[in-house]
Amino acid sequence: MRSEPIRMCIACRKRNSKYRLLRFVVKDGQLFFDPDYKAFGRGANVCPSHSCLKKAFNKNLFERALKTKVALPASYEDFIKNILSVIRDRIVNGVRMGLKFRGVVSGREAVKRYLNKEEVSLLIIAEDLSERSIAEFEGLAVDRCFLLTKDEWGAVLGRDPVGVIGIIDEGLARKLKLLIEKYVSLNKRGSLNGKK
Ligand SMILES: [Zn+2]
Repeated sequence: MRSEPIRMCIACRKRNSKYRLLRFVVKDGQLFFDPDYKAFGRGANVCPSHSCLKKAFNKNLFERALKTKVALPASYEDFIKNILSVIRDRIVNGVRMGLKFRGVVSGREAVKRYLNKEEVSLLIIAEDLSERSIAEFEGLAVDRCFLLTKDEWGAVLGRDPVGVIGIIDEGLARKLKLLIEKYVSLNKRGSLNGKK
């Protein structure tokens, strides 16, 4: 296996896989979140936790890390809101694209069929799916998360409300898990491999 690139958080100085940290770059003096780790230039990395992000924001540790003047969003709330909306878009687009190339199935019956074949790599359950329905998906040896509501999933996927989504494609599941991990660690909503 290829070894993962390691980066250091500019706030707590702990080292971690680059893909578990949030990367930021500066462009025209403004700070930008780089969810794909592809933006050109020097990057500053921060743990996806409020304690590290708050410290980096309040002390503007980005300036020292990026070696240039960095203008920050007006408030910490705006800063986090932007990061969350970018990550949420990535998650939603990943699921949407997956539906197109058959790497994703949606709806209880279809998801169950694939679960029985042990072909689901990640199970996404709507936060407001009924307890009875959730129980049907309990105790499975598959990563699962609670994210968005049935109506929200329906709207972003352009169909009727969606309660369960199964990610079949392993590469996509891996990518989504990293995004979801960050999303839920910064959000009161959602969970990964835990209770609703
Ligand atoms: Zn940190």
